[in-house]
Amino acid sequence: MKKVSIIVPAYNEEEVLEIFYKETKKVLEEITDKYDYELIFVDDGSKDNTLDVLKNMHKVDEKINIISFSRNFGKEAGIYAGLSASNGDFAVIMDADLQNEPKVIIEMLKYIEEGYDTVTTIRNRKKEPKVKSFFAKTFYRLMQGANNIEIKEGSQDFRLMTRQVVDAILQLKEYNRFSKGIFSWVGFKTKYIEVENKERVAGKTKWSFKGLTKYAIEGITSFTVKPLRIATISGIIISIVSLILAIQIVIQTLISGKDVPGYASTITSVLFIGGIQLVTIGILSEYVGKIYLEIKGRPQYIIKEEILGDKIDHENIK
Ligand code: UDP
Ligand code: MG
Repeated sequence: MKKVSIIVPAYNEEEVLEIFYKETKKVLEEITDKYDYELIFVDDGSKDNTLDVLKNMHKVDEKINIISFSRNFGKEAGIYAGLSASNGDFAVIMDADLQNEPKVIIEMLKYIEEGYDTVTTIRNRKKEPKVKSFFAKTFYRLMQGANNIEIKEGSQDFRLMTRQVVDAILQLKEYNRFSKGIFSWVGFKTKYIEVENKERVAGKTKWSFKGLTKYAIEGITSFTVKPLRIATISGIIISIVSLILAIQIVIQTLISGKDVPGYASTITSVLFIGGIQLVTIGILSEYVGKIYLEIKGRPQYIIKEEILGDKIDHENIK
């Protein structure tokens, strides 16, 4: 029997975990004639009682595995830890807040049976605030230019993949993880399915506007060096324009015999060039910073506690 590993990163989710478990379990029990399953919860250094709630759930269900981080390392680290711990033939990544409907798993498995390697959900943005949609769309448009990878607009982390895909993803050990990019980067035959954008059942979103901006910059700089090229090209354009301008000023002065007056033009161009330079240095620093963090080779997360359900027995048998 094939096994499905459900991976759930959770940060301060005490309010939703039980109902998430109930709903997901219901769906998973529907398919037990064909699939075995395990649930892997990654407590991402929650400050509330997430870990205790999980431990209580573990007491009654040995299919529940818990990995608990020493502090908040972010969802990307949670996904990596979950995938590393999983041993199913398939892995599903899900949010804890039921925004990802468990019943979609059944649909995903159908596509896998048809021969796809991975199934990804695309959320339609009908119910989202307009401003958020606008920024999200701009972000995806920018990302399209990245190194030969395509990240479909609205694609979420909620997806199912075969063991082969999981192993490919685990090979990418970079510290600056941008999962959406990594999922696309590894390739494989992907099926996209559109899903409804659900409301969170309880608790609060962990994303602020600031957080999302950081995520966007992270995404772009993790996957493409295009901003560096834009900086180079704007440098070249400005140099050419200023050269033409300089020649024009010299000729005009020679012909008319008078200096070209122009405090305004001088100060504007000085400030303009100054601005461009700062932006360029900023872009450069983003990449240098990335190299710095990458070169330190730190682990993506530290595990404080690990409670593995029936998996321990499996390993002993092997
Ligand atoms: N999450 C996490 N670590 C974080 C932030 C979020 O593991 O630092 C988890 C969170 O518990 C949830 C999922 O990532 O299961 C998605 O987060 P959220 O629902 O807050 O994001 P949104 O759906 O609003 O984009
Ligand atoms: Mg959510």
